[in-house]
Amino acid sequence: MTHSDVMYNQDDSIENVLENVARAHRILEMEGHGDMSMGHLSFRDPFGRGLWLKRGNLGMEEVQGKDFILIDFDGNVLEGQGLRHLEWPLHTEIMRARPDVNFVGHSHPFYATVFASTEAELGAYSNEGVWFAEHGVPRFTLTSNIITTPELGREHADALGQAEALLLRNHGASYVGKTVKDVTLAGIFLEKAAKFQLTLATSGLPYQLPPDEETQEKIETIYPERARNNFWMYFNRKLDRLEATS
Ligand SMILES: [Zn+2]
Repeated sequence: MTHSDVMYNQDDSIENVLENVARAHRILEMEGHGDMSMGHLSFRDPFGRGLWLKRGNLGMEEVQGKDFILIDFDGNVLEGQGLRHLEWPLHTEIMRARPDVNFVGHSHPFYATVFASTEAELGAYSNEGVWFAEHGVPRFTLTSNIITTPELGREHADALGQAEALLLRNHGASYVGKTVKDVTLAGIFLEKAAKFQLTLATSGLPYQLPPDEETQEKIETIYPERARNNFWMYFNRKLDRLEATS
């Protein structure tokens, strides 16, 4: 299904949202988030039953609208078939802690994971870094192991706080959004910002962070709603071209 097919059928049905969340997985794979069958996004069930989580054993580039299971906040599978990812508590505990969040992503993008393994703070050195300027990008350091229990899920959600993304030391990254568009852009921009800063840090050249007030202005000028829509549409067209040729 191409993006225009999804757009022609635009509505708030769960099926339609899950088609877009499936595309978000494939876009993130295209933008450097793929790691075999690891990586998963979820969508808060609009009827309050829990959340729709990508099923296991699938690469991000393989996900289609049917590849989701509905789990409640204790991880019980209510609908759908397939393996439940071990890291389900990472999703349920963020959804519990953050009523403003409707979409959660977790994956192992290469540069963001390398950056997560350092002790440096991710700064607004590039346009992509500006996305995270308001809350910064905290780092989860309690364990580099996977998040498989509600206790670890709560610690992970605490570390995220009100931020849009969290680096998991020696493991990967998690990112959130109110919309599927925002969670996807957060994932893409996190990887780009980490790649930019790693390149800068290893260049051997002197560099500086742009002043705070300039960064604040850039949030308004670079990422208004119409630009976010525009970027989301761009990545969907890019995905359509990639899938048309493969
Ligand atoms: Zn992971």
